[in-house]
Amino acid sequence: MTEKRIESPALRDYRLRARAWLADNVARVAGQAPESQDDPQLEKLQEFKDLQLKIHQAGYAGFTFPVEYGGQGLTLGHERAFNEEAIGYAMPPTNFGTSINILGATLVEFGTHEQKLAHVPNILSGKELWLQFLSEPSGGSDLAGLLTSASRDGDSYVVNGQKTWSTSAHLSDFALCPVRTRWDVPKHKGISVLIIDLKSPGLEIRRIKQIDGGSEFCEEFFSDMIVPAVNLVGEENEGWRVARGLLEIEHAWVGRGGASDGTQDPMSDLVSLVKERDLGGDLGVRRQVVGLHVSSEAQKLVAARVSSGVAIGKLAHGYGSLLKLGDDIVAKRRAEISLAVAGAAGVTWDPGDVEKQTWVRQFLYSRSVSIAGGTDEIQRNNVSERVLGLPREPAFDRDVPFNQVLHN
Ligand SMILES: Cc1cc2nc3c(=O)[nH]c(=O)nc-3n(C[C@H](O)[C@H](O)[C@H](O)COP(=O)(O)OP(=O)(O)OC[C@H]3O[C@@H](n4cnc5c(N)ncnc54)[C@H](O)[C@@H]3O)c2cc1C
Repeated sequence: MTEKRIESPALRDYRLRARAWLADNVARVAGQAPESQDDPQLEKLQEFKDLQLKIHQAGYAGFTFPVEYGGQGLTLGHERAFNEEAIGYAMPPTNFGTSINILGATLVEFGTHEQKLAHVPNILSGKELWLQFLSEPSGGSDLAGLLTSASRDGDSYVVNGQKTWSTSAHLSDFALCPVRTRWDVPKHKGISVLIIDLKSPGLEIRRIKQIDGGSEFCEEFFSDMIVPAVNLVGEENEGWRVARGLLEIEHAWVGRGGASDGTQDPMSDLVSLVKERDLGGDLGVRRQVVGLHVSSEAQKLVAARVSSGVAIGKLAHGYGSLLKLGDDIVAKRRAEISLAVAGAAGVTWDPGDVEKQTWVRQFLYSRSVSIAGGTDEIQRNNVSERVLGLPREPAFDRDVPFNQVLHN
């Protein structure tokens, strides 16, 4: 289902070299992949880290990152070509992608030269796994309303508060964490972003047990945690710019398909399922599958065009929300159709038969794409305000000092 675009000879050559490298160096996925690879088992983590090192050493990590910080200095076209070729291979799971393409990319954009030198090459090679500490128990959509505090004490900050819904924090090494450093100014004006070393004292990480039996999420408790002031990313109290930038980077990456489990081609999987269920002649099924294919291809083309537009500064960053929203809609539609096509076999399975659970699990998991990284409602708000230029959503607390706003 891939590789139909017209490419320059140089990009085509790059694709062919990537194809050969993958065939020689990475194992193919055996059977169907689990619905989420966010939560690699601890014992498999080192294996994935070794693979990521190999990938980086071969020049296939950080495609658009500056060479100075271990990146490749290439284009999104190179990233896309490699990712398409990597379909069907047992690549490192999504939290490696998040670490590189959200946290690493944010550090490249907003970090100091020293911070980038210290961390970006390690992020690309998988030596350091990073995540984001954005959501709090009081809410995730209103990121600027965060309550975790940091007070300056000489060369350090003292951090107190709580974060939650952090994916794979128990397996990670560092986090980017917005904290409140001023309470006497409106909410967007008193935020700073810190690099948090997850092994430091004063931080307790607890895993959250999910209703589906998994536990990929964690919650974190900060008790007088000391963070060196050199870990400040961007200016003190100007962290909203960094946090906003991180979200824009995330939306654009998710929107161009980055966060999806790239081990398989979902359309091919669906077509195989249709054949397996002998439904290829069913007009209703054919219509749904073709409609989905058209939406999916349109999303990919829009993603490629918008990503390039944002990268060269021709389109506002708010366009990333448009891509994420499009990707969310296609992913959910695909899961709905797959479950319907799978029929009873999609919702019943023998205990322990992991492969059979795939369709229903994919369906259930697909609901989360409309929440992770900012809900669909928030993406719609972003598109209306930042792309279409419609009036801002009314807010009672925008210009009020944060210590005068009621919380929780
Ligand atoms: C798979 C997954 C992975 C995640 N990983 C991480 C992670 O690594 N780090 C992290 O920090 N967080 C993570 N999250 C949390 C995620 O960012 C939040 O769940 C999300 O931002 C929504 O916040 P909330 O759950 O607090 O919902 P709330 O903000 O309480 O929102 C509740 C509902 O109200 C709606 N709503 C809120 N405000 C508005 C508005 N202004 N206009 C219209 N509707 C509105 C929302 O759309 C939603 O439907 C993850 C979530 C998922 C599902």
